[in-house]
Amino acid sequence: MSVDIVKSVRDCFPIFKNKINGKSLSYLDNAAITQVPDVMISSLDNFYRNINANVHRGAYSLSELATEKYEGTRIKISKYIGASDPSECIFVKGTTEGINLVSNSYLRPRLMPGDEVLISYMEHHSNIVPWYLLCKELKAKLKVIPILQSGELDYSVIPSLLTSRTKLFAITHISNSLGTVNDLKYLINISHSKNIPILIDGAQSLSNGFINVKELDCDFYTLSSHKMFGPNGLGVLYVKKKILEKMVPYQGGGDMIKQVSFSNITWNDCPYKFEAGTPSIANVVAFGETIDFLKNLDLKSLFLYKKELFDYACSELLKIPGVKFIGSPKHRAEILSFILEGIHPHDVGTIANHYGVAVRTGHHCSMPVMDFFGVSSTVRMSLSIYNTEEDISKLVYSINKAKKVFF
Ligand code: PMP
Repeated sequence: MSVDIVKSVRDCFPIFKNKINGKSLSYLDNAAITQVPDVMISSLDNFYRNINANVHRGAYSLSELATEKYEGTRIKISKYIGASDPSECIFVKGTTEGINLVSNSYLRPRLMPGDEVLISYMEHHSNIVPWYLLCKELKAKLKVIPILQSGELDYSVIPSLLTSRTKLFAITHISNSLGTVNDLKYLINISHSKNIPILIDGAQSLSNGFINVKELDCDFYTLSSHKMFGPNGLGVLYVKKKILEKMVPYQGGGDMIKQVSFSNITWNDCPYKFEAGTPSIANVVAFGETIDFLKNLDLKSLFLYKKELFDYACSELLKIPGVKFIGSPKHRAEILSFILEGIHPHDVGTIANHYGVAVRTGHHCSMPVMDFFGVSSTVRMSLSIYNTEEDISKLVYSINKAKKVFF
């Protein structure tokens, strides 16, 4: 891919015009939040200036327009992830809320004492804590697929961990701390061969590739808009229609009901039944613009470019004595955790920041992964389609500077 094309993509993201500590920004924390294009910001601005009204409520023009745009995004995202019908897509705050919704609206009424929920060792805390809470309360067991030194799942034990007591299998597509890409086809097939529904945590999926939930045949799929160039505080929970209709609401409020009296309440149709209260309307509308923006990019080539840039980054980082990679999965996204021997990750991050380089340091909301590798934190570099070789050179430069400060 030509440097000019990458530059033209980067130019769509206004944040890169800013200076950080007097330096140009090398943003390498894309697994936490991806930057947003101008069109998304303009959409937010336009919404508040020209549309701002509640959805599904008024008979007046602005409310109708807000509703049309809000529901328009539902159609766009459902097509983008290959859902059968827009009603299978529920707007939530993000992956975390999506998982909590499944925990309360799907699993809670079905989980009996002694039942099991299966997750893996490489989950983000948001795919651990909701299941831990529910299992503890209902006296069920939280079972965990171990990982290997490579940072991959131990596939050999999965068949025996899915038992007749397993009521849900919840697993990440891509590890946010290790970059490991799990074999979704295998995981979904093995789960379904035992009649166990499966939830895919897709928080990291869509900034790294394409997803078709219908082809995959997963039962639940979560995503976060702010990890795919959209506004923050917004996500989507996909639920297969035949399961969705059997779920009970877990948040009550306006818009999710048909009739309310003090003795009886009837629920609105899906997905509104699960969207209590005024939703994040402007963000949803702006997310629609983001999806259009993505569809106009040659994402296939950009993802390939990102892979090549990642390989280059890894080879450059490995030239620095003392850099140690955490995990070496065969299939991986452009996310790398590493440590620098003798220097705390936070110090590496602080020095990198001085040169305008933003890397994440800490446990990445994956404490079990840190425990497994015997570290308390790592430096994490995660790339996106607008990163360049210059970003990598600056990271390498700042790591070498950090070494000079400490040794
Ligand atoms: N799962 C994974 C794999 C993630 O990377 C994240 C965010 N880092 C989450 C879940 C939680 O997403 P959110 O904070 O958007 O709810």
